[in-house]
Order: sequence, then C-alpha cells, then structure tokens
Amino acid sequence: MITKDSVVEFHYKVTDAEGNLIDQSGEDAPLKYLHGYNNIVPGLESQLQDKETGAKFEASVPAALAYGEKNDALVQQVPAAMFQGVDNVEVGMGFSAQTPQGPVEVTVVAVEDDMVTVDGNHPLAGKDLTFDVEIVSVREATAEELEHGHAH
Ligand SMILES: [Zn+2]
Repeated sequence: MITKDSVVEFHYKVTDAEGNLIDQSGEDAPLKYLHGYNNIVPGLESQLQDKETGAKFEASVPAALAYGEKNDALVQQVPAAMFQGVDNVEVGMGFSAQTPQGPVEVTVVAVEDDMVTVDGNHPLAGKDLTFDVEIVSVREATAEELEHGHAH
C-alpha cells in the first residue's frame, strides 16, 4: 500500500478537459517516484495515497492541484530588440529569460511589429487534467533514497 516513503512505479496517461492526450508513460517505462516528497503534482500524489499494486483508477486533478492556475502577470510584452542574435522570433519559440528571481522559461505567444508577447506560465498551467493510472509496484524506500528525497 502506498504511504509516505513508498517508492512507486505506475503507468499513466494524462488528458486535458477536452480529452486531448498530453502525455503518457512508455510501455516498458512506468514513472517511478518517492511518495510524500512533492515529486509529482499534489492532486495526483494525494489520490495515490493508500492504493495497492495493481490498482487502476482515474484521477481528476483541477489545475490548482496540477500545474497551477495561469498567472496573467507572467504574460508580458517585450521589445523585439531584446531578442538580439535571433533572426526570426516566432510564436512557439522558447527562451530562458533572466529575471531578478533567476532564469524563467518563457514561450513566445505573439509577435506584432516590434513587440513580442512572452508567457512564463508552465505549458499546463490553468488546465484541469485527468490521469489514467495503473500501479505497477510499491516498495519501501531505501535509506539512500530517503536521504536524497527521490527514487533511484
Ligand atoms: Zn539520489
């Protein structure tokens, strides 16, 4: 049974509210994590609690408990001149922006004349997600795993 300090392997398939497939584990590569250390999104971790090996279930996780609500303050317009050395700034490009809080990954969401709109939100921010889960294995963490705070 999954409790704090369990190392869990599970297969998953994630879809958004419209049913679009966002991500899934590889056939022979379940995701492995250490339970109770915020290594996966909180809304999924809480629903894995107390589950047994072999359990299959669907977990609905609201955006706030997945990758967070979208923060409009992270969407900003910057002058295109700031992208020195980039020939064509295009929608969808990713950049690392230097901020007083350290580097932030941003995605270009609009380009208009000499202004570029960038979005620093996680690509899945604001999305309610559904996880199809199948638990493959559950074991106790080793002392080293607990020390590191992640599964090996
Ligand atoms: Zn380690």
